[in-house]
Amino acid sequence: MKEDYYEVLGISKSATAAEIKKAYRKKALQYHPDKNPGDSSAEEKFKKSAEAYEILSDADKKARYDQFGHSAFEGGGGGGFGGGGMNMDDIFSQFGDIFGGGFGGGGFGGFGGGGGQRRVKGSNLRIRVSLTLEEIANGVEKKVKVKRKVQAEGVTYKTCATCNGRGQVTKIQNTILGRMQTAAVCSTCGGSGQILDGKPGDADAQGLKVVEETVSINIPAGVEEGMQLKVPNKGNDAPGNGVPGDLLVAIETQEHSTLKREGDNLHYDLYVSISEAVLGTSKEIDAVGGKVRIKLEAGIQSGKILRLRGKGITSLNGYGAGDILVHVNVWTPKELNKEQREFFEKMQGNDNFEPKPEKSDKSFFEKVKDMFS
Ligand SMILES: [Zn+2]
Repeated sequence: MKEDYYEVLGISKSATAAEIKKAYRKKALQYHPDKNPGDSSAEEKFKKSAEAYEILSDADKKARYDQFGHSAFEGGGGGGFGGGGMNMDDIFSQFGDIFGGGFGGGGFGGFGGGGGQRRVKGSNLRIRVSLTLEEIANGVEKKVKVKRKVQAEGVTYKTCATCNGRGQVTKIQNTILGRMQTAAVCSTCGGSGQILDGKPGDADAQGLKVVEETVSINIPAGVEEGMQLKVPNKGNDAPGNGVPGDLLVAIETQEHSTLKREGDNLHYDLYVSISEAVLGTSKEIDAVGGKVRIKLEAGIQSGKILRLRGKGITSLNGYGAGDILVHVNVWTPKELNKEQREFFEKMQGNDNFEPKPEKSDKSFFEKVKDMFS
């Protein structure tokens, strides 16, 4: 049982031509395949509303439908509506009068305004770019060599004779429903409206040849392994008046020898001797783009985490930067000479050497909790 055309468009039987058009426009935008990729129920609704509109927008067909219902259009042969419904090309060819010339430019890729040419897009190219932590921390401009197909010098195109440059072929059939017009992408030119005319010897069958080109890629700070950036129009050219594909850049990250990344923060393990911890010292640590000197107070505890604010990775969203977290590790000597051994033996039981954790000496777990808060 077929759904009632008025119900499909959500209108009453007394709807005016303008209301019918408006209702269809709304449904077509809602269920457009570009907006619902891979959703077959949306595609079905899209087709059903197109079919309903095709009938109800035509005064003759509408009158017949109102009188006889769906049976008016069944078994007639060749009408295109009875059994299989409309195909996508038929539907898109309707759009010219529904949406006007502005429709094609509205982001529904591939279908030119008012049913004109299709802008054929060249294929995308994919590369990988490997980045150091320093490059990620502040962003970097990378120049890479890319082998891409471009239109060969001296190549000429001529208007496709099959479609007269329209990119579509239109068929007009006389059926019981009246004159019907259907449009399909021209198979001679693939929809571009142009075909190769003359080409130099080094061009391929589409008039393209491979060249090596240096492409500059602006990589923002804060990117992560596995992210993909798009450089528009740096893929392969399309033949004729088409638009080039894109260059897709997959991000790979190199490990740093001492700094470990965690989101926008960096962790650094600092080892100090027992005497440095007791007496206090200053140490150079690795930071992105150079060394940073930090001061350790006398009596610093092993496990202390020092935070260098803003010295981490610049945030991908552009708001601020992470920190470097310096983890202090006091190195306990494993071997002692006689004199050293005597010193430490003498200190056993000495009050200054007895652990006296204060409130400020947070436990390891409390520090970890702080770090992530
Ligand atoms: Zn053609």
